[in-house]
Amino acid sequence: MFGRVPKKSDNTRYYEVLGVPKSASQDDMKKAYRKAAIKNHPDKGGDPEKFKELAQAYEVLSDPEKREIYDQYGEDALKEGMGGGGGGHDPFDIFQSFFGGSPFGGGGSSRGRRQRKGEDVIHPLKVSLEDLYNGISKKLSLSRNVICRKCNGKGSKSGASMTCSGCRGSGMKVSIRQLGPGMIQQMQHVCNDCKGTGEKINEKDRCPNCKGEKVAPEKKVLDVIVEKGMQNGQKISFPGEADEAPDTVTGDIVFVLQQKEHPKFKRKGEDLFYEHSLSLTEALCGFQFVLNHLDGRQLLIKSNPGEVIKPDQYKAINDEGMPIYQRPFMKGKLYIHFAVDFPDSLARDQCKALEAVLPPRSASQLTDMELDECEETTLHDVNIEEEMRRKQTQAQEAYEEDEDDFHGGAQRVQCAQQ
Ligand SMILES: [Zn+2]
Ligand SMILES: [Zn+2]
Repeated sequence: MFGRVPKKSDNTRYYEVLGVPKSASQDDMKKAYRKAAIKNHPDKGGDPEKFKELAQAYEVLSDPEKREIYDQYGEDALKEGMGGGGGGHDPFDIFQSFFGGSPFGGGGSSRGRRQRKGEDVIHPLKVSLEDLYNGISKKLSLSRNVICRKCNGKGSKSGASMTCSGCRGSGMKVSIRQLGPGMIQQMQHVCNDCKGTGEKINEKDRCPNCKGEKVAPEKKVLDVIVEKGMQNGQKISFPGEADEAPDTVTGDIVFVLQQKEHPKFKRKGEDLFYEHSLSLTEALCGFQFVLNHLDGRQLLIKSNPGEVIKPDQYKAINDEGMPIYQRPFMKGKLYIHFAVDFPDSLARDQCKALEAVLPPRSASQLTDMELDECEETTLHDVNIEEEMRRKQTQAQEAYEEDEDDFHGGAQRVQCAQQ
């Protein structure tokens, strides 16, 4: 009844695998998985491929964050790690964590004891734009829990662990409360004798190294290699380096790069942007300046003879942008954005001198008669952004007043009808 579904990057396959509609609730999803997973469990003669697919589909759709990514971008997006880790977990782990043990009752599954997945530890790692341009390796010292070497994670000197008498090894305690005649309430809670582990170690037999905790802190130095061209937000993972715990698959340590602001350069993907101000004379008559690049090289930037740079103009230099990640011999562009500093005012003789060399005024000369027909005006300075902002608030307030009027009117009409 279940054929192998061809791989396509659509976003409905997981729903089909579980046999639920796209609008299915978390509860529907659980029910569907429970039924299908028991039916298809390889220990009960089910198809292992189908079992794996079910686990995969359930893993994604039961996680609201992953489900959203899947709904929007399909399966491939999760493989690319958008969902943090993507698929690829052991289908038996997913099954075990769903049922919290054996769903078949009694003897349990042949897969042995259950393994939890430890949590990933995420650290932000601040880097400069220079670090991302040149690449750098940073040694970071971290403290993490490892399985105690003295007792191999048993927690006891003798290696023995005793089943907790408080909960008989289940880790949970049930208390019963009488609510009234013939009415009782059963409550389940974590056993406080063993903190839910189901085991208790004799006081005298406790491992002196870990004090019965089974794990002990250890210093670890990680060599984090920031490669040329890495991006802000990019992750560098150390699989299985997070805290160790008994019967747990150790999680990863993940560093997330955070690029610090650079005073001179801005980065957009593989390109760099650099702001430079020219004086009016430089803009009109030529310029040259030294640009200190991110690797310490000095670039000589100069205009072509006779070239005029206009305010807000961009120029680009090929192959002087950021190195491309994993192809560091290729680089993006370096864009230079020019501002031109105009003088605030000019003296009369400066104007004369400029008029002598600059192109003549374009306006035709007006006759006295024509001038007489015109009205005089005055130009004054404005901050245009502030001006526009003020107008917008005014318009908003006027609109809100109109709204009030409208509601008032409607009320009056209603009264009249009564
Ligand atoms: Zn207990
Ligand atoms: Zn120990």
